[in-house]
Amino acid sequence: MKKVRATLQKMGYGDEYSEYTEYVCLVDETCHGGEYTFCGNAIPDSHLDIEGFEAIGDEYKGSIKEVTCPQCLKRIEYIKSLK
Ligand SMILES: [Zn+2]
Repeated sequence: MKKVRATLQKMGYGDEYSEYTEYVCLVDETCHGGEYTFCGNAIPDSHLDIEGFEAIGDEYKGSIKEVTCPQCLKRIEYIKSLK
């Protein structure tokens, strides 16, 4: 399979229970035209106060190695572990 550059999105996470943190998420290009992160959060119109996360800036191309979001990494590891 041809390798392509990963689409990445910087996201801010935080709610009343957890401290605000910024992570780099992988954008899931396989569904909804890339409107969701790989960890399942909708990118457009996301607001920290309402959803507990929000997109910071625009999507950009990069390497899967740049992903720092723990939930995205968990899914990436899971898929890599499958036969
Ligand atoms: Zn993520």
